[in-house]
Amino acid sequence: MSQIVNILEEKCPKCAEGKVFATKGNIFLLRMPKMNEKCSCCGHKFEKETGYFFGSMYVSYAMAVAEMVGAFLIMQFFVKGFAPMITIIAILAVLLSTFNFRISRMLWIYMFDGPGRTL
Ligand SMILES: [Zn+2]
Repeated sequence: MSQIVNILEEKCPKCAEGKVFATKGNIFLLRMPKMNEKCSCCGHKFEKETGYFFGSMYVSYAMAVAEMVGAFLIMQFFVKGFAPMITIIAILAVLLSTFNFRISRMLWIYMFDGPGRTL
């Protein structure tokens, strides 16, 4: 349970103290989140090698699809018509993009470099 909290709070997978992201990003200003290179507390390097976070794109994709399907299932009771529904889902996908970016990388780090992992 504490790992889920640490993922949502974007804490270092090794010491659970340092922050993984320096900035959260802002989609309204077209700024993506910026990661710290190393943990400020324990010095753990987050990006092990070039392309380490390539796989987190699949996590982000799965999250985006789940959010869109969830939005569709909720909106089908309130929104009539295909075009408004697609527009709302597209806007939602854009608004959640920085959140998905951060959480997918956090899930990726905790899956392959989390507590107890020695690789
Ligand atoms: Zn750390």
